This record gives sequence, C-alpha cells and structure tokens, in this order.
Amino acid sequence: MKQSDIEILKSISGVLENISGTILIVPHANPDGDAIGSAIGLANILQNAGFRVVVISPNSYPSFYNWLDCKTEILDAEKNKVASKKHFANAELLICVDFNEPSRVGPLQKAVEGFTGKKILIDHHPDPMYFCDYTISYPSYSSTAELVFDVVAGLGLNEYIDKPAAEALYTGIMADTGSFSHNTSDPNIYKVIAELLKSGIKPETIHANVYHNYSADRMRLLGYCLHEKMEVLPEYRTAFISITKDELEMFNFKPGDTEGFVNYPLSISGIIFSALFIEKEGLVKASFRSKGDFPANSFSKEHFGGGGHLNAAGGEAKLPLKEALSKFKQLLPGYLNQLLNVDS
Ligand code: 5GP
Ligand code: MN
Repeated sequence: MKQSDIEILKSISGVLENISGTILIVPHANPDGDAIGSAIGLANILQNAGFRVVVISPNSYPSFYNWLDCKTEILDAEKNKVASKKHFANAELLICVDFNEPSRVGPLQKAVEGFTGKKILIDHHPDPMYFCDYTISYPSYSSTAELVFDVVAGLGLNEYIDKPAAEALYTGIMADTGSFSHNTSDPNIYKVIAELLKSGIKPETIHANVYHNYSADRMRLLGYCLHEKMEVLPEYRTAFISITKDELEMFNFKPGDTEGFVNYPLSISGIIFSALFIEKEGLVKASFRSKGDFPANSFSKEHFGGGGHLNAAGGEAKLPLKEALSKFKQLLPGYLNQLLNVDS
C-alpha cells in the first residue's frame, strides 16, 4: 500500500473512532460478485467490530449470490426508496465499493453526491473521480474484495474477519478473476486467500454456490446464445452475442442470467475481443471482454459511453439493437491493427 494511503488509513481510523451512528456501504448498480462480495464482507467485519452498518444496493443482485450471509441489514434501494432515503439522511459515514464515479450507482447518484457525512471510496477501477473525502484506489488489484482485505488489515481490524466475511471477500476475488484465471499474477492475491482460508471457508462450496446453480432456463439461454446468436468475425479476432427482449422472455429471464456469457467467445482459438449486447427498455446494454493489451475500457468509453477495466468493460447505446450491432461492426476495421497485434 502506498505511503499516502497509510496516512489515509490513519485518518479513516480517526473517523471510525468517532462514529456513533450508522455506516452505509454502497456497491455499484447491477452489482456483480466483487461489488456485492466487497460490500457484504466489509459490512460483516465492521459489524463484528461493533459498528452499526447497512448495505444499500442500488438495485437487486443476482440470486446466485443470495447465499452470502450478510449479518447487517441489506436494502435494495430500488424496492425500498423511502428507507434508503432515510438512511442516506441519517448515516454518519458512507463507504463506496467497486466503482470509480458516482454515475455508476445509477438511481442513487444524487444520494451519494449529496451525502453530508464523510465518504470513503475503496475501488480498483482506473481513473477514479475524487468524489469522496478519502479515496483508496488501486487499479493493480485483482478485485475490490482483495483491496478491502488489505484496508481492513491496515486498519487493524483483521480479527473481525469471520467465516461469512471471508466467504464474501473470497467470492469477490473469485468473481473478478474468472475463478483465478486472469489478473492473478500478483502474489498478494494468494496471501489474501491464504488468510481468508484460515476462517474455515470452503472454496469448492463457494464455487459451486455461484457457478453450479443455473436454472434449466438459464442453461438453455446460454446454449441458444452460443448456437444461434453468436457471430464470429475471425478477420477481426472478434466474436459477439446479441439478445433481444423477446428472446430473454422466451427463457424466463431473471437478473444475472446472462452474467459471464460475454466470456465464452474468448474461449475460441484466436478470438481476443468479445462483446455481448442485450436489448433493454429504450437502450442496449453492452459488455466487452478482451485479451492482452486490447483496451476494452477505452473502446467502451469512446463508443458506448461506458468504461471499466482494460480487459472487462461495459457501456450502453441508446439505439435499437440492430443499429447498435451495425455500429459495433463498423468500428472494428478502425481497430484492425490493434486487434491483429495482440498476443494471446
Ligand atoms: P459487465 O460487462 O460485467 O457489466 O462489466 C464489466 C466491467 O465494466 C465492470 O468492471 C463494471 O464495473 C464496468 N462497467 C460495466 N458497465 C459500465 C458502464 O455503463 N459504465 C462504466 N463506466 N463502467 C461499466
Ligand atoms: Mn470489481
């Protein structure tokens, strides 16, 4: 951890010493495993340390994370607008996890920006906006969950990491590294995992809880997407999948059902850029994944108003699905050199 952050941790310790009210923890909208794992892990640790904590998720998270044991109140702000507003009005401290700009919390943006207590950001996305009093940002970390562990250790709170907290942080690291298949070159990840294992967590069980609980509909949707809806463009080392609202309905879509689908095309030999386009109400949600140094995040930022990490990014297009797909395909020739030059 940077020297400047050791100073920040001292200041945060000072803030925590003076807290008598509630601490809010907020992940980004449409939380993934890292966002929700980091939020629940940190909430459990702070609660164990004697603080009153509430997790406020901007909207619902996929049901395959429901088994995570959050000992504090956890609120879906979309379904509990009044309670969420009250918490933002009364809490003393807000901790933002796994996002780098306030727009990432969607409908909670105004509440986060207008929060009058102290704000802390713990995140690993590049180019953070400095909207908090204390910003702990390390794009080199595999996941926010790994960083939460180091922050907790830096605050001297590791003794409060119990099994539910360790399970949540492990889940975050597992989710953001594709089950330890990418962003895993830093020895620190394994040091953190070794510490988490001491709490008695079972990696096999966690993996099965998250990845081996497809509904039959979700499995069939995946099969349909790969068989019917994937276009492969070997000349651009690119493949993409698109799904309409009607198709989602055909397979009784539930939130989270398409999570991870964007990774499958990268398993095709030679493919280094993959995209998933999902038709939503009035817009198309886009996900991008890449290998090597092809920048999924700047591609998304420039053309789909989004962002993220070098190899995993998201964005959206306010276009009909067909037009979003044409736009995507028309952009590829401009990236031909970069696409061909990636080592994979
Ligand atoms: P996913 O494709 O799984 O939705 O997101 C992949 C990565 O891109 C995550 O790190 C996520 O935080 C980021 N991301 C997804 N959607 C957006 C977006 O609309 N805007 C920005 N700035 N980042 C996004
Ligand atoms: Mn993350």
